[in-house]
Amino acid sequence: MAPTYDVVLVGARNTGPVSAVMLAHAARKVVVVEANDRLGGAVASGETTRPRYVHDLFATSLNLLFGSRFYAEFSDNQSRYGQQLRRSDLPYARGFPGGRSVGVSVGVESTLERLHQLSPRDAEGWQQLHELHERVSSTLFSVYTSPVPSDGLADLAQLVS
Ligand SMILES: Cc1cc2nc3c(=O)[nH]c(=O)nc-3n(C[C@H](O)[C@H](O)[C@H](O)COP(=O)(O)OP(=O)(O)OC[C@H]3O[C@@H](n4cnc5c(N)ncnc54)[C@H](O)[C@@H]3O)c2cc1C
Repeated sequence: MAPTYDVVLVGARNTGPVSAVMLAHAARKVVVVEANDRLGGAVASGETTRPRYVHDLFATSLNLLFGSRFYAEFSDNQSRYGQQLRRSDLPYARGFPGGRSVGVSVGVESTLERLHQLSPRDAEGWQQLHELHERVSSTLFSVYTSPVPSDGLADLAQLVS
């Protein structure tokens, strides 16, 4: 007899597997179907330039996943089934014509130092963005994790106005 399921989820990229884990946790029998021969969709890495240099191929910042209740609760489960997320202290860099480049690191001071060498004005802009982020981030992140529509959006609008 063909197996039966409570829920069939189409697509094993981000939303599908997250929903599957939560539904399975709630004792639902779930199957996830995926058209591609590889899971994960835009969350993928590969040695595309030189051997042993592993690049993010598509999605690069999974900070909302890292900060989510889902990740706090289920990340052990994800790694048990083969998902390995790696962090870097130097996550982004940009090359410019003429051989110049600039990288963004996790520490604000080191990023400002690098930007300052390239452009004091850009360093000042980065500092302003950082200050804005410090001011709004706790409200912003609570909006991300609230059901929609969220009263937090009104708080956020007031903070940035
Ligand atoms: C280049 C790029 C960079 C990105 N960078 C970031 C980033 O840095 N940070 C970030 O948070 N987000 C990023 N995103 C966005 C992120 O990838 C998407 O928000 C996320 O993939 C949405 O997930 P989803 O599961 O809802 O839908 P989708 O990603 O659209 O997944 C749908 C899945 O369903 C499968 N499917 C479709 N039809 C069928 C069918 N009939 N049968 C079986 N399977 C089917 C598809 O193959 C696919 O795997 C990026 C996206 C791209 C394209």
